[in-house]
Amino acid sequence: MSNFHSTVSRREFMKAIGLAGAGIGGAALVSPVFHDLDEAMSADSLSHPGKPWWIKEREIENPTTEIDWNMFNRYPESQGARAAGVRGGYPGAVTAEEFAKVASNPGKVNAKAWMTANKPGYRLQDKVLASQNGLPPGASNPWVISSAIANFESYGVPKYQGTPEENSRMLRSVLKLYGASMLGYMELNEKTKKFVFEEYQFRDVPKGFSDAGIDVLPNVPLWGIGLGCPNSTANIATGPSQISYASTGLGHTMIEVTGSCTQRFLMGIGYQCMFGGYENCYPHPGIDTMVGMTELGRACNHGINPSAGIGFTPTSLTTDLPLESTNPIDAGILRFCDSCAKCADVCPNGAITHGEQSWEPQAGWSNRGHKQFQNHMLNCHIYRTTVGQCSTCEGACVFNKGTGAMVHEVVKATMSTTSMFNGFFRKMDDAFGYGPGDMGPGRDPTTGVFNNKAVEWWDKELPAWGYDLGKTYY
Ligand code: SF4
Ligand code: SF4
Repeated sequence: MSNFHSTVSRREFMKAIGLAGAGIGGAALVSPVFHDLDEAMSADSLSHPGKPWWIKEREIENPTTEIDWNMFNRYPESQGARAAGVRGGYPGAVTAEEFAKVASNPGKVNAKAWMTANKPGYRLQDKVLASQNGLPPGASNPWVISSAIANFESYGVPKYQGTPEENSRMLRSVLKLYGASMLGYMELNEKTKKFVFEEYQFRDVPKGFSDAGIDVLPNVPLWGIGLGCPNSTANIATGPSQISYASTGLGHTMIEVTGSCTQRFLMGIGYQCMFGGYENCYPHPGIDTMVGMTELGRACNHGINPSAGIGFTPTSLTTDLPLESTNPIDAGILRFCDSCAKCADVCPNGAITHGEQSWEPQAGWSNRGHKQFQNHMLNCHIYRTTVGQCSTCEGACVFNKGTGAMVHEVVKATMSTTSMFNGFFRKMDDAFGYGPGDMGPGRDPTTGVFNNKAVEWWDKELPAWGYDLGKTYY
């Protein structure tokens, strides 16, 4: 049973933000003022259908993150903190000893010791839950599919043709059915091609292909597709643990299935689709933020979705089906992160900065040319390797509350409009005991403290995949 308790009643909370007894219209500081919830929720958009009014759309290629397009250039994926190719270190920032900590993989040692001792979140059943939720044995996600599939030619009809607007709507329905809860599109042009990792090559060929280990994009009009599915908040609240990892790992599986089905759909109607599995040619936070799935927040160099927070798993596709770019969003997330830093408070290894946004990365693990919270991504990677995955920041994010309770929608609407209550909302999030509770620096498995929510999780009655479906993630 959950031991959830709050020291603040719902009535006190609503009163504190000026809503008690007056309905949503009583939030005088929040504009626009709507007369009832139906009116508030009906402001629709072609770019992000179904999004609530308080998520504002910005101009194409103008997210809340500042970008200097002259400084911003393509980045090598091999420089990322998780990539095997960077074991040589980041000169001036990380020592050989710090790299050795990663190479020794203490996670294996810890896994056996904690399994043997039946530690919460690391027991045998916890470990197997996390390790057996991948694609079926033998399944693969190639960059392009070279084998024949049933398509317009085999059906004896012309390829599908539509306007970019029609195509965008059609593909949105396809992606939703196949499992994407959030999505958006980005035309590849001289600016946005800079999001494609350096390892991927553009060549003057009509179609994408793989050539001796190099994935090739054709120099024809192309569009990037960002897509994602939420992770179970009940799982990520158990972090650091294998129960948390089971949810994020399952997200990889589900979004790869979504990507693969969509890749084959696009081929079937007569278009190209380059995929390659969960990690492919774009850094997720970049494309997610450009297409309006997220704003780039503080935690872990990850995009923050207005409903799922950091708690979702993204991937991306590239197609030559003409699409309309979707708008970046402003839900007040970046402003909120300025004063929140809850993820930095709970990070067991000091990977997330408490500082302000900056143009200067701490080391080569982040690309230059945009202003962001500059985190120590190698510290994150070291810790995750030590305990066998982490995601404590993911569980803690103030934005991962979904849309299940009206109070969360009211809070988010207020956040999107004024930063006046941001400090208060952060305190309330702590008071309600959301996320991984008091896990954090000095209170984590490496210091002998385990999250008991990982034991309670097994007695919860959760929806399939651990999250509520619906038009709630935009
Ligand atoms: S170490 Fe854990 S809490 Fe810290 S940034 Fe990495 S995943 Fe998040
Ligand atoms: S926990 Fe707070 S600071 Fe961190 S990403 Fe979420 S909202 Fe931003």
